[in-house]
Amino acid sequence: MSITELTATERERILAKAALFAPPANVLPDGRRDLVGLSREELAAEMAEAGEKSFRAKQLWHWIYHQGVRDFAAMSTIAKPLQDKLAKRFVIGRPEVAADQLSQDETRKFLFRFRDHEAVETVYIPDPVEDRGAVCISSQVGCTLSCRFCHTGTQRLARNLSAAEIVGQFMAARDAYGEWPSPKSETPRLLSTIVLMGMGEPLYNYENVAKAMKIIMDGEGIALSRRRITLSTSGVVPMMDQAGEELGVNLAVSLHAVRDDLRDELVPLNRKYPIAELIAACRRYPAASNARRITFEYVMLKDLNDSEADARALVKLIAGLPAKVNLIPFNPWPGSKYETSSPAAIRKFADIVMNAGYASPVRTPRGQDILAACGQLKSAVQSAA
Ligand code: SAH
Ligand code: SF4
Repeated sequence: MSITELTATERERILAKAALFAPPANVLPDGRRDLVGLSREELAAEMAEAGEKSFRAKQLWHWIYHQGVRDFAAMSTIAKPLQDKLAKRFVIGRPEVAADQLSQDETRKFLFRFRDHEAVETVYIPDPVEDRGAVCISSQVGCTLSCRFCHTGTQRLARNLSAAEIVGQFMAARDAYGEWPSPKSETPRLLSTIVLMGMGEPLYNYENVAKAMKIIMDGEGIALSRRRITLSTSGVVPMMDQAGEELGVNLAVSLHAVRDDLRDELVPLNRKYPIAELIAACRRYPAASNARRITFEYVMLKDLNDSEADARALVKLIAGLPAKVNLIPFNPWPGSKYETSSPAAIRKFADIVMNAGYASPVRTPRGQDILAACGQLKSAVQSAA
């Protein structure tokens, strides 16, 4: 088999596995269907089935995703009898806000609960200076990958999120800040970027993530540009090309180690897709350019991956790639076994990377007091043991 064929087989295997953890149907117990999360084509099909003209789908899209309306009665371009008819068949859903915590630094963490009572965490991280911020979105309830330093990795995968639940996290966060109607594409927004860096591995739930991102990027709705969306992966190589071609969003790669023996231990997925294959996939990533660099995330773990030799090996590894390196001081969580690197070690590491020509910002931990920082998210109830 050629490499391309191998990749295609591997991709099919990953998609088939994702289907085993499929979310439940987006229907209420009374039989009404949720319109959120449908593609434009699916929405048009719903209208056809209800005996309505196809332009209704366009109108609804506008009300749902541009205006942020949740009640058919507020849709002033639709006559009352049709509003009533729609309300009998459909809803415009949102996840339930099961918890809402504000950190001292204004980072805000939501626990969103879905109809089957599964829940995920979503975090809004405001820029400390400007009126804008990032929404950190989850893609799965739990994660299969068990990276050693990650809290989510201790929560077994319950299921994948649906497109509705992925878009719903962003819409519910926008509700909390009153950011409707959607600002025009390049006007400033408070919730200005999306990072798929919450719970779960987005490329192990590719189809739902892709559908959700297409809804969010649609110019007649939320209209967030692909340049304002970053997908973070621990390195699911066979899905990276597809994500790049179909979505063209920014890519972040959780590298964390420059040697396979150490990465095998920290990010067990490395045993399947080792560093050389991962970097090759980054070199092929279509949306990478000097204007849109690939972000390498590197969690700083004391005496494990933070030496000067590691920093030098890192710049060698990514030589020639349009990239920046985000250094993330390790965020502890209850029961975690690692320590974060010393500020001096982080500074030295950052200098070596920067002197080689790569931006190397050190990420300030945000929302640590409410366990909202990178790698601290977990929605399962902690066992008392
Ligand atoms: N599953 C995806 C996206 C979610 S994790 C991925 O792994 O890329 C988002 C980022 O937080 C990843 O780079 C992850 O490695 C990092 N992270 C996980 N646990 C962490 C911790 N305890 N401290 C700091 N960063 C952590
Ligand atoms: Fe999963 Fe990412 Fe956490 Fe690894 S770092 S366990 S891939 S969420």
